[in-house]
Amino acid sequence: MQPRSAAAAGRDFPYTSRTTCYIEISEDGTVSHGTDSGTYERARSGKSTLYAVWPGEWSSHLFVIDDLDEYARAHGLVHDEKRTGLADHEHTVRWTLDPSETNPLGSYITIRVHLDCGCSIQDLGTFAGQMREQRGWDIATTGGWGGSSTSGTYMRARRKSLGA
Ligand SMILES: [Zn+2]
Repeated sequence: MQPRSAAAAGRDFPYTSRTTCYIEISEDGTVSHGTDSGTYERARSGKSTLYAVWPGEWSSHLFVIDDLDEYARAHGLVHDEKRTGLADHEHTVRWTLDPSETNPLGSYITIRVHLDCGCSIQDLGTFAGQMREQRGWDIATTGGWGGSSTSGTYMRARRKSLGA
C-alpha cells in the first residue's frame, strides 16, 4: 500500500485526533508506535520517517507525515499564530470579573479577558502558557471557556495569581 501525503491534506489532517495512530520507522527499520518528545527531531533530521493511520469510516488510510512543520504546529511544538489566534508577543491584556461569578473571593474565579493587542484566543492552552510566562497567571485549562472578541473571553483563573 502506497502511503498518502499528509501535507496534501493540509490543516485538515487530524494530527492531534485520539484516533490517529502514529508509526515511526527509524533508519535501521525499527518500528515503533506512537510518538514521544524526540519524534519531531528524529523525523526532521531524517533519522526516522513518521507515518500515521487515519481511520476512515470504511477503511483506514496510511499517511506519511511529510509536513513536519504542520505536525509541530498542531502539537504545539512550535508557535502557530493562525491556529491559536495569538501572536508570539507580550499581550496587552485586561481582565474583569465575569458577571456570572457568584463567589468573587473563591480561590478560582471566572474572569473575562480582553486583548487590546488585537489577538483572539482560539487555544486556551497556548494562552495559559503565555500568561503564566508573561504575568504569572494560573489559568485553569480544564474548565469551560469561550466568548467573543467584543465581549471578551471568559475563563477560570486562580485569583491570587491575578493579584486580586
Ligand atoms: Zn496579543
